[in-house]
Formats: sequence, structure tokens, C-alpha cells
Amino acid sequence: MRITVAKGDGIGPEIMDATLAILEAAGAGLTYDFIEVGEKVYLSGNSAGISNEAWDIIRRNKVFLKSPITTPQGGGYKSLNVSTRKFLGLYANVRPCFSLHPMVRAAHPVIDLVIVRENEEDLYAGIEHQQTDEVVQCLKLVSRPGCEKIIRYAFEYAVQQGRRKVSCLSKDNIMKQTDGLFHKIFDEIAAEYPQIQNEHWIIDIGTARVAVHPEVFDVIVTTNLYGDILSDVAAEITGSVGMGGSSNIGEQCAMFEAVHGSAPMIAGQGIANPSGLLQGAVLMLVHLGKTKVAERIQNAWLCTIEAGIHTADIYTEGLSQQKVGNAEFAQAVIARLGQQPQHFKPAQYAEDKPLQLKPYIRRAPQSKTLVGVDLFVHWSGSDPEALAKIMHHLDQDALRLKMITNRGIKVYPGGFPETFCTDHWRCRFVGPDGVALAKADVIALLDRAEAAGVDFIKTEHLYAFDGVKAFSLGQGE
Ligand code: NAD
Repeated sequence: MRITVAKGDGIGPEIMDATLAILEAAGAGLTYDFIEVGEKVYLSGNSAGISNEAWDIIRRNKVFLKSPITTPQGGGYKSLNVSTRKFLGLYANVRPCFSLHPMVRAAHPVIDLVIVRENEEDLYAGIEHQQTDEVVQCLKLVSRPGCEKIIRYAFEYAVQQGRRKVSCLSKDNIMKQTDGLFHKIFDEIAAEYPQIQNEHWIIDIGTARVAVHPEVFDVIVTTNLYGDILSDVAAEITGSVGMGGSSNIGEQCAMFEAVHGSAPMIAGQGIANPSGLLQGAVLMLVHLGKTKVAERIQNAWLCTIEAGIHTADIYTEGLSQQKVGNAEFAQAVIARLGQQPQHFKPAQYAEDKPLQLKPYIRRAPQSKTLVGVDLFVHWSGSDPEALAKIMHHLDQDALRLKMITNRGIKVYPGGFPETFCTDHWRCRFVGPDGVALAKADVIALLDRAEAAGVDFIKTEHLYAFDGVKAFSLGQGE
């Protein structure tokens, strides 16, 4: 079986060498195509961090084992991790987290949860713009197919793995449209799986609960950014962020990696923990149907941890027996291939059949009515009443100024003088109740704004779908 391997940056090459040595010794029977991606490629002038030839190899082999990569700061470099997940349609990022208590000091003795993180959209769409001197924007895109795919994946995963509960984490009390859609679809899909318990947590308290009471969680499904943060929290409370592996699953390809990054501060010292990448490799072997080899490696790894042979990040005086470097740790795992752990439950993997998800079916289009427009304006004044006067000059029967907000807070009519205002204003124009507007009404408003010298920076249409207003109100509207 042929897979693609990237050794990555920072500690990447050392932990990959350790992982491949264990795979080899365990008789994984894999052949590798090595590709160069990451820092060197970025710094050679390729802002994507990967060549077209490397893409071809990844797409041909379908399965990709990747070490962490350093994305250089600034300079327009695009994160290769994010683009790999999106280009290859790897919509599900699955991150199992379990404690190795009492051999590894963990924040909690009982941790056995799996984070299923949406991988393709949300704030990671990377659509950002500076709009005024003072304000930049990042678009948060959440789609029905994106939510349906990841939530269905989480429930199917729970059924396949014999898990009891799926918890949804979102912030729909604040983001009623985007996170609201995620929560709504969670409720819809949960109803199709009566045998699996379901619950919803607001992300902030949910994350706090994961940190302190991880035992109440089983499978967690959440959006991209929350999942990223949450999985580092979960990995860290098991003892070290260096312990977590993850799979990125798509309909055609899959990528396996460690949860952590390239840890440049400890690179080249030989002290990194290779466990995270090794855990990614074990997930890969199960995915490839090589369950027996996966069990051999996992059990040898558990035996090594049990024997107290620990890298510096998990080494605890009095608890650990021997502090080892990355290569010695790999040798200790290799020496224990074929052994069964005594304290930990030996690993046993079921034949991993790819999850069969119902295909996404696009619904019949809803009736969509234009009812107004938000005109975003760059204006350096400070008195909202003065801006309202300018905006009211643009009023016509079709569209009239209803309110002005600054960073979402209503400042006109009836704002508070205490509210701090930037140079970025949203002026909401709406049509008469029950009247469907035409795009020409918006174009006419823009013409009037241009003639009046208003520095408008963008518009957002206000729509009703099937008669229900589908936009958020201003805070205080
Ligand atoms: P990091 O995960 O690299 O490091 C965080 C902390 O954990 C550091 O103290 C580090 O020394 C420690 N650590 C991480 N992995 C370890 C291991 N295997 N063994 C022992 N200690 C370990 O996070 P960061 O410092 O925020 O990011 C560094 C770079 O990694 C950045 O360029 C970032 O963009 C990149 N990154 C890449 C990925 C990826 O490739 N999937 C993921 C996250 C971050």
C-alpha cells in the first residue's frame, strides 16, 4: 500500500522518523512517496507552501501522513493545513482524547472523548478585508451542507464506535444565524438517531466543562474554530498536547497528523514526544483496514507509557521511571511490539468500514424576498446624529434609513453617548412593510450615496426566506 508522507517543519522530521521506524518494525507493509511541503517551499516564493507535483502525489495515493508545518507569519502565506483539508474535501477532523491515568499525570483520571470538528468552513474560510482605517473584517461562513455532513458524521461515528452520546457545542445565543443553523441542524439530525443521547452546550461553558469534567462528554461535534481550540484543551488535560493524534476524513482522501504544531522552540533537540503523530498513524492503519498492525503498535505504545518511559513533556518525578528523547521512546515502543499492556485495556479495533453517510440532498429553493439593505460606511465623524442627517438625505420611498449601528450596537435612533464608536458604520435602509424590493432600488440608493460623497464600503442585502426575516437585528434595535 502506497501513502504520501510529509516530514514537515520544526519537530516534524524527528517525530516522523520515530513514527516510520515503529511502522516499519511492526510490519505495516507500507511504501512511501515523500513530498516537500511547508516552510522551505513557502520561503522559496510559493505562497501555498506546496507544489503542483506534490498535490498530484497526494491525490493519487489518497492517504497522507503529515507532520506539523510552520506557516510563516505575514507575507500572504496561506496555511497549508487549512488548504489541504479544503482542497481535498476532508470535512471531518476526528480527534480522540483519552487519559493514561495514573501513568501520565492528567487533569482528570477519566477522559475518553472524541472531538469531531468541522474542517472546511466557518471563520477558516480565510476571507478577510480591511474596510476602514480602524476596522478589519473576517467572514464567518456556515452552510447547510457543511453542517449536515459533519453532524451526520458525528452520529454515524458514535453508532459505529458504540458511543452513547453526541454533544453539540456552539454559540447560538450570540450568533443566531450561523451558529443557530449549526444547532438547528444538530437537532434535526439527532432526531434520526434515537439510540444516541444528544445535548447542546454553549461553547464557553462547554469548554470549561471539558477542562474540569471531561468525563461527562463522549462525542463532541462543533464548528471549525471552536473545535480547534477545544481539541488543544482536551489534548492538554490528558497530559500533553504532544499526545493527541487526528484524522481528517473526506469522501475520497484522508490525512492523518498530530494535533499539535511544529514546536520550533524544541526542534532539533531530540526531546519531542512522537506520540501525537504515532496516534495519527494508528488511526491511519485502522482506516486502511490494517487493524492487527494498529493494535500491535497501540499496545506496544501503551506498554511503554505503562513502564514509565516518558518524554520530557509528560515526565513526572516519582511517577515516571525514565526520561527519554524522541528516538529512544520509539526504540522502547519497538522493543515492546507483541506485548499486551497490564494496566491499560489492550487496544482492539473493529474492521473499520468507511462510514456510509446519506448523501446531501439540496432542498427546494425557498421564496426569497429583498426587504432592505445594510450600507456600510467609512466615516470619521463621532456624532451618530450627524451621520443620520447625511443618510436621511438618501431616503426615498423604496428605502429609508431605519437605524445606524457601530460594531453591531445601535447608535441611532436613540443611542447612548457612552457607546464608543469607530469609523465603521452600518446604515440599515428598509422598504415599506410587506413590499418586495428590487436590486434596482439598492443600485439607486448607491447612486444617491455616491452623488452625496458618502464613502460606502460594502452592502449586505436583507432577505426574508419563506417570509421569515433572515438577518440579525442590531443590538438594541
Ligand atoms: P505547538 O503545538 O507547536 O506548541 C505548543 C506547545 O506545546 C509548545 O510549548 C511546544 O513545545 C509543546 N509541544 C507541541 N508538540 C509537542 C511534542 N510533540 N512534544 C513535546 N512538546 C510539544 O503550537 P504553536 O507554538 O502555537 O505553533 C507553532 C507552529 O506550528 C506555528 O507555525 C503554527 O502555525 C504551527 N501549527 C501547525 C499545525 C499543523 O501543522 N497541523 C497545527 C498547529 C500549529
